[in-house]
Amino acid sequence: MSSSTDPTSAAYAQAVKELGLKKNIAKALEIPDRELTVEIPFRRDNGEIESVVGFRVQHNNTRGPFKGGIRYHEHVDIDEVRSLATLMTWKTSLLDIPYGGGKGGIGVDPRNYSKTELERMSRRFFRAIDPIIGINVDIPAPDVNTNAQVMSWFMDEYSQLHGYSPAIVTGKPLELGGSAGREAATGKGTAVITRETAKKWNIELKNAKVVIQGFGNVGSYAAKFLHEYGCKVIAVSDVTGGLYDPDGLDIDSLFEYNSANKTIDGFDQGKKVTNDELLALECDFLIPAALGSAINEKNVDSLNCKVIVEAANGPVTGSAANKLWDKKIAIIPDILTNAGGVTVSYFEWVQNLQQFKWTENDVNQKLEDKMVNAFNEVYEVKKSKQVPMRIASFMVAIDRVHVAYNLREG
Ligand code: NAD
Repeated sequence: MSSSTDPTSAAYAQAVKELGLKKNIAKALEIPDRELTVEIPFRRDNGEIESVVGFRVQHNNTRGPFKGGIRYHEHVDIDEVRSLATLMTWKTSLLDIPYGGGKGGIGVDPRNYSKTELERMSRRFFRAIDPIIGINVDIPAPDVNTNAQVMSWFMDEYSQLHGYSPAIVTGKPLELGGSAGREAATGKGTAVITRETAKKWNIELKNAKVVIQGFGNVGSYAAKFLHEYGCKVIAVSDVTGGLYDPDGLDIDSLFEYNSANKTIDGFDQGKKVTNDELLALECDFLIPAALGSAINEKNVDSLNCKVIVEAANGPVTGSAANKLWDKKIAIIPDILTNAGGVTVSYFEWVQNLQQFKWTENDVNQKLEDKMVNAFNEVYEVKKSKQVPMRIASFMVAIDRVHVAYNLREG
């Protein structure tokens, strides 16, 4: 993506301009602190050695240790990892979490490997990045195609070298120091942000019409909490298509059905709609919670919502966002909406360092406070500077890093 169409680069440039940041500082904050590329040799089940390439990019640690996930995907390369690491710096800053930004990955399609092969690959990768990580230095987490099992291997590998160290990764199973509330965190955060948006946009939350694209981890929990807040979730979809009921879907039953079947396909309520039809439904809140670029030049004119709440990463393209601004359809940006996951990851790390477990209620209350504070800060900047919520979010995030950077470097 060129910087003019990539919403993140465009938002960074505009936010820097609005903040009046000097060019040298804007450039300094863009350059990653460190990039590591490693060879990962591991044995296949047939006895042959195979080598793959892995990366860890540490973008900025002005406000705290580097933080960010590790993904396994054939599209992973240094450019993608660098831009995701940068985004993590702004996301942790926006939520005022004492972390910087990092990201990592291996350029493989994990479906081509057995579980034992993935274990050997994962352990070797973690050993290869060991010189630059640490519980107060860089704390990885799960991302696309990695999960609590991969985090357990990472934690075990690191602990063999350095002694028992659950705080080296987050997203672990509960039994190994994972946090209560982590599974629901991103969906819960999305619901909290939607609720706060309703207040500011004067939309009655009770019976507000909500449409959600994607019913995976984020979409299903967002639906569950919004339903609990009294919203009417009129349509949801997954990769198989969507279900629509103007009177509101029975979210509790659908959540259970989806947990058991890993799809909403076959659920016996609602009219079937395609994903394109779903995006065009008249509603108060449209929540894309599946893919990047789901709302783009091709479908943006068909939208019929008041607000888009970006639960997925980058679901609205830059050019679609410009059109929506002209049409006065607000976008609540991903960097704010889906930050619940990294926030509870931070809580997991704090619990590990304290060797103390918080209750789910503790975690949820603290998550709620963090999300509401961040939302209000962004909204104040939006109002005072008359900028979109995305630009206001980047302004809050960049300014916080900038102030800390000046104090340390000045
Ligand atoms: P997931 O794999 O659990 O769920 C993805 C959902 O999207 C599934 O229901 C899938 O069927 C659906 N989907 C896939 N292709 C689709 C298509 N073409 N049309 C409609 N639906 C489709 O993933 P997730 O963890 O829920 O993540 C969703 C998004 O949120 C991603 O963009 C992810 O990067 C972002 N995100 C997730 C977290 C987290 O904590 N899980 C945190 C931050 C951001």
